[in-house]
This record gives sequence, C-alpha cells and structure tokens, in this order.
Amino acid sequence: MKERTTILQAKFLLSTYYLPDDALLSLLIPYLNQHTKSKWHLLNNSTLWQQLPEPKNNTMTATFKATKRSYLMNELSQKINAPIGAINLAACRPKLVIDPILWLPMSRKERSRCIRWRLGWLPGGKIKACQTCGFENFHKNHAISCLNIHKRLEIPYHITSDPISHLLNQLPQSKPTSHKKINFWKNIWPTICTILVEIDAHQHPTSNQHQYFDEHPGKAFTTWIDNPSPHQNE
Ligand SMILES: [Zn+2]
Repeated sequence: MKERTTILQAKFLLSTYYLPDDALLSLLIPYLNQHTKSKWHLLNNSTLWQQLPEPKNNTMTATFKATKRSYLMNELSQKINAPIGAINLAACRPKLVIDPILWLPMSRKERSRCIRWRLGWLPGGKIKACQTCGFENFHKNHAISCLNIHKRLEIPYHITSDPISHLLNQLPQSKPTSHKKINFWKNIWPTICTILVEIDAHQHPTSNQHQYFDEHPGKAFTTWIDNPSPHQNE
C-alpha cells in the first residue's frame, strides 16, 4: 500500500501542471510553497516524486513509467533483503509482476488455496493434527514432508524447501506457445491442485470430505493453456 500511495501522490502532483491557471489549486500553489510545514510540502517530499528527473513539468509518460518501475524494483529489493520478515516474500514475490495466481483461469476454491499457500496460511485457522500420521501440528513444513510433496512434484530437495511455491513462481505470465511448456503445466497443474485439496481436507477433518473431491482438478487452467490464443492464428 505504501508504494501505491507514493505513486498516486506523484500522479497527483504531476496532474497539477495541467490545471488551468485560474483553478483554485493553481492559485494556491505559490502560497503553499512558502509554508514548509504544510501538507503540500510533505507531498512534494514523497519518494517517487523526488526521484522524477527535472524539470518535472516536462515529464513524459515513458519517463514516469521508467522511474516508477525503478522505484518499485528498489522497494521490492529492499524488502526481500531485509533481515527480518522477508522469508515469505522472498519465496513468493521474486519478480515485479502481478502474481499469475490472481488472474490465471481456475476455480474459486483453487485460487483461494493457492493464495493461502502463498500467504503461508494453511486453511482452517486453528492448529490441527495431521490426518495422515497423527502428528499434533499440521503446519506447512509438515505438510510438505508428510504428503511427500517434493517427490510428487518431482522437485529435488536441494532445489527448494517449498516445492509448491517454487512451481507457482514459474507460472506463465501469458499463454505459452511452446509445446514443452504447455505439456509441463498440463501434467503438473492437476497434481498441484490435488495436493492443495488434500491440505485443505486435512485442515477440515470434521467437515464433509466429499466437498474436497474434484473429478477434474485444475481443469480451467489446463483447458486455457492447451487452447491457442485467437491472436496466434491471425
Ligand atoms: Zn503427517
């Protein structure tokens, strides 16, 4: 949210250059500039605005976008490298993109399970015992080892401690054209969905387990990826 606020502040300041001369804000700006403790002065000190090259009133759209990207990259890099609280972010947000789990075709439940896994929350809220081995705390790392997730996803242990996040990080940013990639996701995605279903069911041992049965896990995504985009045939 902090980054979003900073970007909106810079856009707002930029828009003031295009106000008519007799607009109230245009008339007030010379007065506001004299008061260093005003909100206007604070606004002018916002990070992205300060990073825009001078003269700011000549800022082109491409310059604004490039400065914004550089600012976001810098913020992401600082957060990933922070000594505290960055482990989950480093595992889940290695790139400056919209996470594909937010827009790729999948059912509501599948998306919810992916997002919960990303956030480090196992569905259910309270600590549950493992339904497979009886261990008292079915936490994320236990789920990975007890449900044999490395082996089922064919990811060696030395590559990553979290094979599901490892694969979610490789989800395509657009519809792939390579048959190798298409086949890879057609094969692996139903397995990922099935594993997340099992974890969901483990977290709700008292509920009707039938609701977790899915005859075609991951079908929305595998159907989407296997059909060429209409633009490819043009
Ligand atoms: Zn277990």
